[in-house]
Amino acid sequence: MVNTMQMINILDDQTINKIAAGEVVERPVSVVKELTENAIDAGSTSVSIEIKGGGIDSIRVTDNGTGINREDIPLAFLRHATSKIHSAEDLAGISSLGFRGEALSSVASVSKVEVMTKTKDSILGYRYRISGGRELSFDEAGVPEGTTIIVKDLFYNTPARRKFLKSSATEGNYITELVEKLILSHPDISFKFTSDGRVRLASDGSGDIKACIYSVFGRQSVTAMTDIEYVSENCSITGFVGKPETARQNRNHELFFVNGRCVKSKILSQAVEEAYKPYLMLHKFPFVILYYDIPTELLDVNVHPAKTEIRFMEERLVSSVTITSVTEGITKKELISDALRQESEERVVPDMPEPFEHNLIKPSDKSPAPARIPTRESEISYSRPVSYPEGKPEQETLFKEGFLSEDNHSKHRIIGQVFDTYWIIEYEDKMYIIDQHAAHEKVLYERFSKQIVQNSVISQMISPPFIVTLSPSEEEVVRQYISEFAEIGFTIEHFGQKEYALSSVPVELFGMSPHDYFLSVLDDIAENRPNKQPAQIKDRIATMACKAAVKGNMRMSYTEADALISQLFTLDNPYNCPHGRPTVISFSQSDLEKLFKRIV
Ligand code: ADP
Ligand code: MG
Repeated sequence: MVNTMQMINILDDQTINKIAAGEVVERPVSVVKELTENAIDAGSTSVSIEIKGGGIDSIRVTDNGTGINREDIPLAFLRHATSKIHSAEDLAGISSLGFRGEALSSVASVSKVEVMTKTKDSILGYRYRISGGRELSFDEAGVPEGTTIIVKDLFYNTPARRKFLKSSATEGNYITELVEKLILSHPDISFKFTSDGRVRLASDGSGDIKACIYSVFGRQSVTAMTDIEYVSENCSITGFVGKPETARQNRNHELFFVNGRCVKSKILSQAVEEAYKPYLMLHKFPFVILYYDIPTELLDVNVHPAKTEIRFMEERLVSSVTITSVTEGITKKELISDALRQESEERVVPDMPEPFEHNLIKPSDKSPAPARIPTRESEISYSRPVSYPEGKPEQETLFKEGFLSEDNHSKHRIIGQVFDTYWIIEYEDKMYIIDQHAAHEKVLYERFSKQIVQNSVISQMISPPFIVTLSPSEEEVVRQYISEFAEIGFTIEHFGQKEYALSSVPVELFGMSPHDYFLSVLDDIAENRPNKQPAQIKDRIATMACKAAVKGNMRMSYTEADALISQLFTLDNPYNCPHGRPTVISFSQSDLEKLFKRIV
């Protein structure tokens, strides 16, 4: 119990910084992270990181960025000194990696720091030394353009913290892992990482993500991954997804980069794992490297000082486009989903092998092609030895002579439709089930987006023009996206006051009236704005047009179903709808026989 009155002390800055350092600087890797992020923020194209003794003895980060102005050098080491934001409002639009202005002050309060820096405009460079938060010297120095920061004897003045550090080998490994992520997150910056005099990692800064994956994970990974790309207004994704055989035991290879920042995210992990669920055994985790481009106003990165956590304003959108694009990546040019594999995904019991469990692991086993025995001499050249090499040849074969190929169309036997939705077709030794809606949507989507991309949407004049009355926000959308509207076939002119005239409309209206179609596109853009990327707007238009079309057009005759199948042949990827769901699944005769327990 305190029974004498305690004096209240105002802590001095050095003490405050030392306490705050605990949040920012936990171990050597935190120092490397902060220094490197500063180098990146300074526009560097080349960054060298050298450590000794796992970074405990020394860390040296050299960059070729902007350098620091003479008068700013001591300021940079003050708490909350930053050149990156001016006020709280700026937090909403952060694009730099740093912004809290507490890294350098924290680092300098618990170590011995030396800075050498020179800006382009200054003839002279400077050398500044600060130790335990105390300025030691500030001199002119002949140094190259850019900044070098050397941090020695981390936690020399806080022995309690120093005791918590692990062995230098372990601390060094943390740094290696960090540099791997830095390389992957900034393909356009060349990094060199040296530990105790040995070069551990290097990247060339060529901008090629594949080259970065190669530097970090080696050759095999590159060949076992498929690239994905997904453009939409509020969330675009590019990157690579591993084939199921690249799966890992933990989440360390689920790598997410949001606007250039490597982040951890439950939302993203869950989405990716959901997409892989049909392809992975229990307790296995996918290998993915995904780059997100999301408008900064839809993100909150200021969750934690280390800034590795992130909040999405539109969690559901981010999650669903992740599932869609990853699924599309895994199944790209892939074979038709096997109905039994899908059915069994819910009950993967590793210690009780299912008769068809091989389907869970090797998607290449699903190919109907290898099971096929060539019947005509002309076909024999396509056939291959029984033991297939992994990969592509089967896919090519499937594409040339599989179910969805024009040549084999005549061998299809359309059995009929069930539930107003599914068409059953027999072809060779398999039964195929096509989801009419998914297939239709896919056909329209691919056709329409191609037209949009190639600027070949055909439009027709209408006379007299349609007059539409727009609200102020709708007007804004029309004005902002007038050229995109033109590219998809709408000619719009101001007609006075709130009225606009539609004088030409697309020929293909997806079963809607020109007026309805125009307004639904408009609504959709208005609702999902704001976005500047015309490509994303166009993609959006294509998607919504197709959805609307499919909704309004359910009934289908045999002839129409047959025509739909023919259209599927022409697609780049006929196997999945734009949302990643399969368009076609298949049962082989033996699959059915297993279900009926004729064979085990
Ligand atoms: P923050 O990065 O959050 O702004 P820091 O404490 O990490 O805060 O850095 C403080 C300031 O020092 C930065 O805002 C920047 O102006 C300057 N700075 C730090 N490192 C560099 C560097 N490598 N090149 C250029 N300027 C730097
Ligand atoms: Mg910083």
